[in-house]
Amino acid sequence: MTETLAERRARLMGPNVPTFYRNPVHIVRGQGVWLWDAAGRRYLDCYNNVAHVGHCHPAVVGAIARQAAELNTHTRYHHDLVLDYIERLTARLGHGISQAIMVCTGSEANDIALRMAQAVTGKTGVIATDNTYHGNTAATSALSSRRPPIGGYPPHVRLVPAPDSLRNPDPDGSVLAGHVARAIAGLEAAGYGFSGMMLCPAFANEGIPSVVPGFFDRTAAVIRQAGGLVLCDEVQPGFGRMGSHFWGHEALGFAPDVVTVGKPMANGHPVAAILARPDVMAAFRNAFGYFNTFGGNPVSAAACLATLQVIEEEGLQDNAARVSAHGMDRLRALRHPLLAEVRGAGLFFGAEFVLDADQTPATDFVADLVEAMVARGFLLNRIGRAGNTLKIRPPMPFGIAEADLLMDALEAALASTPVRA
Ligand code: PMP
Repeated sequence: MTETLAERRARLMGPNVPTFYRNPVHIVRGQGVWLWDAAGRRYLDCYNNVAHVGHCHPAVVGAIARQAAELNTHTRYHHDLVLDYIERLTARLGHGISQAIMVCTGSEANDIALRMAQAVTGKTGVIATDNTYHGNTAATSALSSRRPPIGGYPPHVRLVPAPDSLRNPDPDGSVLAGHVARAIAGLEAAGYGFSGMMLCPAFANEGIPSVVPGFFDRTAAVIRQAGGLVLCDEVQPGFGRMGSHFWGHEALGFAPDVVTVGKPMANGHPVAAILARPDVMAAFRNAFGYFNTFGGNPVSAAACLATLQVIEEEGLQDNAARVSAHGMDRLRALRHPLLAEVRGAGLFFGAEFVLDADQTPATDFVADLVEAMVARGFLLNRIGRAGNTLKIRPPMPFGIAEADLLMDALEAALASTPVRA
């Protein structure tokens, strides 16, 4: 009997390797917002922030190929491209942030951000929300509450309840600020002190709750008052995805001390960065030193520069704003009885489904809905604490025509997906 791909994967990669969907899709080719599987079937990619400017964008492919043919090496030589990129990227940030460390993954970036906060404050206590994901290193997985670390959460980590606009409205952010103030007091009483709070300004993995500009102001004031740093994880919201702004923290209107970026920044090439003020950078470099063999190598820098250029030249941030307004209107107009809240910003929106007036999550229903959409050739997914929020986060060239295709299919899938008790 021939081995299936799933069996081969398990034989070569071990058990429990994450895949999407009950029948994982075997993708072999991508172009723009479209993907093709091994049988030649086409899918609309409604769930990909890695292929940010579209799958296999010729400008990024060309930049990578040209630079790979000329030079790629480790990062202990001088090279212009990485400096050109840091200059261009930090020009997009305010708050005195003008320097960067280049790494390969968002996890590494957040790991360093945590150590920057330690270096500046001399303390280790750190706060994050309780239903988030910041990475897979030992330090960042302690903030990523999908599975408690062996031996339990380290005592210098405090997780505060993530915003939940449906069940616990907190319009001015004072509830979150109260949780953070109490967590800081707890860290100080326990002798760890407080180094900072890490947050994703879109609360992406938390289920994209509706929060308005100013929502984080009170919490930021509490953090600063206690001498801590605001560590802003822009891995998901950054690079124009929010439509209204280039960065998630701009959309909320608060000042970060450190910004981390990753996933979308080179359209799939593995590169990430930590962006900080010179004083924060100096504290980190002096306390820890740091070297990363691959981070910001010439090919990565070329891919980053090309991606940024495409975002700008093709007006992808504006596209995100326009298409999202249309997509969210159509989502609201679906008027399904279980649809409790449509929310999000830019090309990162979705809908939460509940079973009853007690807001019991319709987790099975949304799981079935996602599968029904895959069967129709639409790749999307679900998020949030109970996995009952439909998540739409396509590559940024996703247009009105694609949003209409998606919503037509969603309407049909909603009508044919039974509600399981
Ligand atoms: N931060 C956030 C908010 C993320 O969603 C992720 C990845 N899903 C990461 C960090 C980690 O990035 P990476 O997988 O590149 O390490």
